Amino acid sequence: MRVARTIRELWAEPPSGRVGLVPTMGAFHDGHLSLFGAARDECDIVVVSLFVNPAQFAPDEDLARYPRDEERDARLAEAAGVDVLFAPAVEEIYPPGFGTWVDVDGVGGEGAARPGHFRGVATVCLKLFNIVRPEAAYFGQKDAQQAALLRRLVRDLNLGLELRVLPTVRDTDGLALSSRNVYLAPAERERALALPRALDAGRAAHAQGSDPVAAARAALNGLEPEYVELVGIGGATVLAAAARVGATRLIDNVILEGDLQ
Ligand code: AMP
Repeated sequence: MRVARTIRELWAEPPSGRVGLVPTMGAFHDGHLSLFGAARDECDIVVVSLFVNPAQFAPDEDLARYPRDEERDARLAEAAGVDVLFAPAVEEIYPPGFGTWVDVDGVGGEGAARPGHFRGVATVCLKLFNIVRPEAAYFGQKDAQQAALLRRLVRDLNLGLELRVLPTVRDTDGLALSSRNVYLAPAERERALALPRALDAGRAAHAQGSDPVAAARAALNGLEPEYVELVGIGGATVLAAAARVGATRLIDNVILEGDLQ
């Protein structure tokens, strides 16, 4: 595996074959590894970007303490068969004078809860697509609203890119894997399980013809949701929710019907 720090280093020679890109912020877990595996299966060259994107963090969010361990990430990526780890410095992506931003409409509850977040996400993803020039890009269902927004970006701006959205990987207790789970104290982790359980209750209610949003809200076991809402991704409708457990903000969703692609 090659590590590229600059755009110039990324493609010393033009790549030959199908390039797959997996954008990440590092602190890899099995959710990331499932995306690397899918890209490995479907592409000739797998590029993983590792960039903790300051533009998608609000000033009061966790940018400074976001978990970082590039050495471990590089080992895991190499073992997963990644060809190139693109790990640029902030100035490589946002050089002095940078001033072009991408705003995508319809950012839903997640966008409303984190003003400016999706502007940062859409901007960095468009930049990564232009820098890496992949045929396919891989994202997780875990960030449902992000996947929906990137589908709109790809379609609206005619990016001619295949966007693959892969299922959420969970821990054995049902909690969706997230780099932010390391912030949870043991008692908080126990409380956090109410989120996937509430979404399961919503899915069960939907299967019986009742309101999934109301059922999920009723099953949150004291967790205060920022939102519980339906989101369309590709051909699927998912039930998505966000809640804070202590200082940690968690998001999760389940498919109610349809197919993510
Ligand atoms: P992040 O490093 O948190 O920005 O995530 C990078 C990619 O991994 C995004 O497309 C996420 O949606 C995806 N991802 C994060 N957690 C999971 C998970 N538990 N299962 C599947 N994909 C995930």
